[in-house]
Amino acid sequence: MSITSPKSPRVLVSGASISGLTTSYWLARYGFEVTVVERAPHLRPGGHALDVRGPAIEVAERMGILPTIRDRSTRLTGIAVVDADGNELFRSTESTLTGGRLDSPDVEILRDDLCQVLHEAVGSRVEYVFGDSIASLTQDESGIDVTFAATAPRRFDLVIGADGLYSGVRRVAFGPDEQFLRAVGDLYVATFGMPNFLGLERWQVMYRQPDSVGALVMGLRRDVNARTYLGFNAPEGLAYDVRDIAAQKRMLAERVAGAGWVIPQIVEHMMRATDFHFYSLSQVRTSTWSRGRIVLVGDAGYAVSLGTGQATSVAMVGSYVLAGELAAHRDDLVRGIASYEDDLRAYVTRNQDIALEQDARQDGPPTEDAITGGLPDFGALTLPFALKPYEGLVSRSSDPPAVNSPGASSTGTAGGRIRGAAPTACRKHHPCS
Ligand SMILES: Cc1cc2nc3c(=O)[nH]c(=O)nc-3n(C[C@H](O)[C@H](O)[C@H](O)COP(=O)(O)OP(=O)(O)OC[C@H]3O[C@@H](n4cnc5c(N)ncnc54)[C@H](O)[C@@H]3O)c2cc1C
Repeated sequence: MSITSPKSPRVLVSGASISGLTTSYWLARYGFEVTVVERAPHLRPGGHALDVRGPAIEVAERMGILPTIRDRSTRLTGIAVVDADGNELFRSTESTLTGGRLDSPDVEILRDDLCQVLHEAVGSRVEYVFGDSIASLTQDESGIDVTFAATAPRRFDLVIGADGLYSGVRRVAFGPDEQFLRAVGDLYVATFGMPNFLGLERWQVMYRQPDSVGALVMGLRRDVNARTYLGFNAPEGLAYDVRDIAAQKRMLAERVAGAGWVIPQIVEHMMRATDFHFYSLSQVRTSTWSRGRIVLVGDAGYAVSLGTGQATSVAMVGSYVLAGELAAHRDDLVRGIASYEDDLRAYVTRNQDIALEQDARQDGPPTEDAITGGLPDFGALTLPFALKPYEGLVSRSSDPPAVNSPGASSTGTAGGRIRGAAPTACRKHHPCS
């Protein structure tokens, strides 16, 4: 199918997180008419720290947000590993488990904060529909009809699935999750915020049992919620409903019952957490990232998995390339999609292969050495990618980024025409800086 587009192609982006916001930023700057539909009633809060590395730093620079994300970075000072009684077994002030080496040029930032910064950068250039999701997609020669779970049907030129590991667009247009999700190891983790009852300041504490239950708590300031990873290994596999959060919490509580350190208190806070997010360490592998006028970006199309700390960077690079290639081929969007895949596929596959190689090396229960000394050097796993310059495609009517401008909100409601439930700030629910 060859698509000849109108002057300002109308694009629907599903998902308002890292990929959705980065893609929307660039498409709006290239003069596309962008609508973002997000299932959550506001920017979805939650998550531990994410890492912006290598070519993604260059993407952030080109978006004008690099100083802001550096300013809001975690600036961790180290990690301690403790035993079941809380005694310190090991500490490092050179590396952490989530960010790797502290002297690297990479940026580690809370997921909420990165979403906020991206949302502010998008500003008022796009329309947001919160609290809704795509129900069906029907494409023909001239466009794509979209029905939604909550709002009236609409027609677009292109639909972009930026809706994560369990992408709704992928399910509707490509098939069930099982066809595309590939487990990387057998670790299942939840992330959530909780009161910083350990009094951590820019510091992480990790506890790991030989039976593979473990937790990693990160606190940035004493008066601000700490972020927690709580997880377990399930070599036998795990069947669970990815949308039933109450059931996920119950299952996790059962799995870690009787564990040492402060796990019982952590579980109590988890049961009350409103930003709980549970997932398996998985990759998404698809033979193609598109179906005609429907294309996937970020975790929805090619999740790398948590292990190598590259998922966010790959997603930001992918978003930049997708938007750029669509803009470069605005009269034939399908060619633009093909070009996106041609340019990016090898980089993505190599990142995914590295994650599998890493996992194969770490197979088996954690050894004492791995528990105390095996902190990662993510920088060594960061691959280069030559970003094409697309500056010439920026629309003259696209206003400059609004990040940190005097009127810019820091509440997650910075911009956009908004439909659906009012977007509430993640910062409001989970103040983090
Ligand atoms: C709540 C949350 C917490 C996370 N925590 C961590 C973490 O601690 N560490 C880590 O390494 N990675 C975490 N991730 C994953 C990380 O954000 C991604 O791996 C990476 O940044 C790429 O992002 P993405 O935008 O492609 O996908 P995601 O960040 O997963 O974003 C997907 C977005 O799509 C929305 N969405 C999902 N389904 C639909 C639908 N049917 N219709 C409309 N919208 C939909 C989601 O609410 C979300 O806003 C988390 C993701 C989420 C959503």
